[in-house]
Amino acid sequence: MAAIRMQGLVKRFGDTTVIPSLDLEIRDQEFVVFVGPSGCGKSTLLRIVAGLEPVDGGELFIGERKVNDMPPAERDIAMVFQDYALYPHMTVRDNMGFGLEMRNTPRDEIRRRVDRAAGMLRIGDYLDRKPKALSGGQRQRVAMGRAMVRDPQVFLFDEPLSNLDAKLRGEVRTEIKALSQQLKTTMIFVTHDQVEAMTMADRIVVLKAGVVQQFGTPEEVYQSPANQFVAGFIGSPT
Ligand code: ADP
Ligand code: MG
Repeated sequence: MAAIRMQGLVKRFGDTTVIPSLDLEIRDQEFVVFVGPSGCGKSTLLRIVAGLEPVDGGELFIGERKVNDMPPAERDIAMVFQDYALYPHMTVRDNMGFGLEMRNTPRDEIRRRVDRAAGMLRIGDYLDRKPKALSGGQRQRVAMGRAMVRDPQVFLFDEPLSNLDAKLRGEVRTEIKALSQQLKTTMIFVTHDQVEAMTMADRIVVLKAGVVQQFGTPEEVYQSPANQFVAGFIGSPT
């Protein structure tokens, strides 16, 4: 069964149609990367899946449930943003546990989950610090940890590496990929970086103006681009 299914999905902002009609099926435990130029609708699509943006037509399923009208908190999805959106006045531990606290998760359960995620992300030594005392890479891991403690079915990443320098970006890229295999969850990762897409994805969705140009493995997209746009964007020598 598909982890996420979109059928005829439509999104408008006022008179502007940013997604004319989108069909997509993402498999369970798949690592899918949405790639495309700035403004093509990547963030909008992710926000739709997260429930942060209503749709103007079509259907969205997460697992078997149609979620068009389901509030974000009920979707069993966690999103990691580009700017991390950490609370500056809270410690790393409290930042990571906050979402669970809001759901009235018992204290020792929160502690257990935060410690586990912090261990996997190697931020166990920073749990009592505030975000401003961390490096960019560490903050990125805290944002990741905050998503992990919720134990979601699906992770959504919106350009989570764009604030990191090139070297760190490579490291965190590898870590996220490894985590996805460990956690056995479905992940959608948005980027405008072709290299990121090619190295991380099980399958890549190439988007242009809200329209899927190609959906395939990195090899397929690279070796058999569906059109000139894909060829140009992915940089294959055709
Ligand atoms: P990407 O993430 O691929 O850069 P976005 O999903 O952010 O693209 O944006 C897709 C299009 O929708 C752009 O043309 C953008 O200007 C427009 N858009 C995004 N959010 C809004 C909004 N809240 N109101 C109006 N237009 C928006
Ligand atoms: Mg975006």
